[in-house]
Amino acid sequence: MKITDILSKGGLTVSFEVFPPKTDTVFESVKDATEKIAALCPSFVSVTYGAGGGTSRYTLDIAKNIKEKYGVPTVAHLTCVSSSRSTVRERIEAISAAGIQNVMALRGDIPNGGALGDYVHADELVTELKTYGSDLCIGAACYPEHHPESPDSISDIENLKRKVDRGVDFLTTQMFFDNSLFYSFMYRIREKGISVPVLPGIMPITNEKQVVRARELSGSFMPQRFLSLVDKFGKRPDAMMQAGIAYATDQIIDLFANGISHIHVYTMNKPEVAKKILENLSSIIS
Ligand code: FAD
Repeated sequence: MKITDILSKGGLTVSFEVFPPKTDTVFESVKDATEKIAALCPSFVSVTYGAGGGTSRYTLDIAKNIKEKYGVPTVAHLTCVSSSRSTVRERIEAISAAGIQNVMALRGDIPNGGALGDYVHADELVTELKTYGSDLCIGAACYPEHHPESPDSISDIENLKRKVDRGVDFLTTQMFFDNSLFYSFMYRIREKGISVPVLPGIMPITNEKQVVRARELSGSFMPQRFLSLVDKFGKRPDAMMQAGIAYATDQIIDLFANGISHIHVYTMNKPEVAKKILENLSSIIS
């Protein structure tokens, strides 16, 4: 099923992101975690992709397994940085051949040394998917606090508009910890004529290490309310887990209360976190 069909059905939805194994040795344990997450019946599951294509096979293996075994629609992420056009076309064919109808079109982070392949930005991958992707539903990334390479929001939103106009069907945001930044972003992109559905990406931070990692990855602003919680509970794993899930739940409930219908949760392959979030929302999304 296409993501656009899921989103247009009405009602509130929660979808999950998982990541594939990096090596064969951990394939079974990662597959098991992703199966437990799929068994929770989210509206869909998206499966990330290693920039440069190192784990490309696993992305499809995991996405196909979830779709076939649990009947949960999946999105296969695809990056184009450092890739040749022929490699990307082969991967697009493989996604379609696996029966996956949704793809997240990403550039990927530029590797150290800056080596680029045939693509400079994700908008070129969107064009490629429109040309060779035989009716795939196309998602893309957006950044409420603007992408780190952009000098400001204005140019980042101009670039986003160009990407969407090339054929993007839905957007998923980078993680954020302050909903007011998301609301302001939505206002600005709608004003610029970007009208596709936007799924806020929520990252439950459940241990102290993740705070540093999340900062490095996203550069997202962390409000004092969130930092106090990490200060207070960061050294107590069970307490931090509970507090982090509560914070993410609170963000999600606020988003639903303010008219947002579809939430994407970065599960970090933790079924217990995904389960708890759904339990916390059970009466709200039923
Ligand atoms: P782009 O859309 O190309 O944007 C990158 C930068 O270039 C931005 O500053 C933008 O403003 C600018 N720009 C865009 N187009 C143009 C243009 N035509 N001219 C000039 N400037 C332009 N990474 C992975 O490796 N694997 C994943 O599976 C993955 N999944 C992700 C999922 C989500 C929801 C998000 C938010 C990010 C994900 N990432 C993933 C990270 C992503 O690859 C990086 O953030 C990367 O640096 C940018 O990718 P992009 O697709 O947003 O790039």
